[in-house]
Amino acid sequence: MDSKIETRPFVGGRHIDARERESFADVEPASGRELARVASAGSETVAHAVAAAREAADRGQWPRMSAEARANVLNRMADGLEKHARELGALEARDVGKPLSECVNHDVARAARNLRFFAAAAQSWTQEAAFSEAKFLGADVRLVNLTERPPLGVGAIIIPWNSPLMLATWNLGPCLAAGNTCVLKPSELAPLTCLALGEIASEAGLPPGVLNVVAGLAETGSALATHQDIDAVAFTGGVATGRKVMAGAAESLKRVMLELGGKSPNLVFSDADLKRAARGVARSIFRSQGQSCVAGSRLLVESRIAGEFIGMLLDEVRRLRIGDPLDEQTDYGPLISAAHRERVHAFVAEAAAEGAEILTGGKAPERPAQGFYYLPTILDRLSPRAHAISEEIFGPVLTVQRFDDEDEALALANATRYGLAAYLWSSKIERALRVAERLKTAMVWVNSFFLRDLRTPFGGAKQSGLGRQGGRYSLEFWTEPKLVCMTYGEEK
Ligand code: NAD
Repeated sequence: MDSKIETRPFVGGRHIDARERESFADVEPASGRELARVASAGSETVAHAVAAAREAADRGQWPRMSAEARANVLNRMADGLEKHARELGALEARDVGKPLSECVNHDVARAARNLRFFAAAAQSWTQEAAFSEAKFLGADVRLVNLTERPPLGVGAIIIPWNSPLMLATWNLGPCLAAGNTCVLKPSELAPLTCLALGEIASEAGLPPGVLNVVAGLAETGSALATHQDIDAVAFTGGVATGRKVMAGAAESLKRVMLELGGKSPNLVFSDADLKRAARGVARSIFRSQGQSCVAGSRLLVESRIAGEFIGMLLDEVRRLRIGDPLDEQTDYGPLISAAHRERVHAFVAEAAAEGAEILTGGKAPERPAQGFYYLPTILDRLSPRAHAISEEIFGPVLTVQRFDDEDEALALANATRYGLAAYLWSSKIERALRVAERLKTAMVWVNSFFLRDLRTPFGGAKQSGLGRQGGRYSLEFWTEPKLVCMTYGEEK
């Protein structure tokens, strides 16, 4: 990997000049200064990238290679990510503003694991065969029904800015392992590590055109999602954009997977291990400064322990070390942009104007003075109709609501259009199972936060998404089930 930051599109196995010769500023959240000037891929460059992916899908060797041979390349890509873990982690930390330790130890490590996981999953995926009987032309015959799983063709992968490498590989892993080619579009707010992926892929022996990377604004994503030669779109981002992607894909009936936003509740019952729950709740909302789709942004706490629990939570907030993302000691960095910080603060200011109590935070810290920092914030006594309760803030803001029994807890938890995750803290197994069953979310964590086996379904219910990722769910998305039916049994 070249240590110079590459900002041009990666198409057909090399970085090229974007045809439109336009660029945008990629700003470093911790300093507010321009980190890189990135070439913007307009519709012509997008079309060029799609053509390269199409050529590799229709005439290249990748879709026709054995799963094992493809797995070898993906495993070498994972080796490349691990070899450059510090460099990539530091680039991610500068571009996104997440603490270095989280970028290196979690995001880059998980990116490598994503590729290795899907390399192995595609190799061990057994296809189905069904045997049955029928009458054909007056004779009894046996049918052998084979379900084959050829790749779909060319995929578009569009991702947000909060975990670029992790989310890119989470989608690229199954897309490529199943034999597809693709065009990846990172967010304009943090495109650098994805642009570095192209070179790592080439070094690992990925054939030219199999992975193409185009950076750009909404128009770039839209040009990609609506392109007639794209067979499937895997989109991760906000609900409003997801709606546009789905509408754009309708024209050519593309397969669409949507991984969207959330407003996930943390339900804390009085029988929970409160210390553990306080650490878990604080981590679920303030990790990555709340800029995570699965952030546990609503605290629903049993009334009789609310005071004690909030006290414990405030202790957890005091322990957070706010600082430069590149400092190994930092566990809380800046928000992604000035505009995002303004948006986050607008929710807090509106709630406060309506009578909410700001228990902590609610403003930018005095230090660091530069950059887009915003203090971890807890809001109590909100109006039940407050936007801070109903809308995804995607920032470090936790709202508090109280309940007296399970029914009330569930009514509050389910009163949202989102349905991504829920966290439930209780030491009673019967309660955990009973409440988990009635929560209208696609994922429920009991006494833990975000640990999971990559074979299990990840995704969102209600308006949090469409489709599931993980293990065979991802492989099913990226392949076209195809029946080949044969008969035998008649003697000739
Ligand atoms: P966003 O929807 O603004 O942008 C996501 C991506 O879509 C970016 O690359 C953007 O350039 C592109 N885009 C913008 N307009 C487009 C259009 N019309 N057509 C095609 N592409 C377009 O989201 P964001 O602000 O980057 O990310 C935050 C959101 O992502 C939050 O809602 C968060 O919950 C969600 N998210 C979801 C998951 C998940 O797995 N469910 C994971 C991470 C983030």
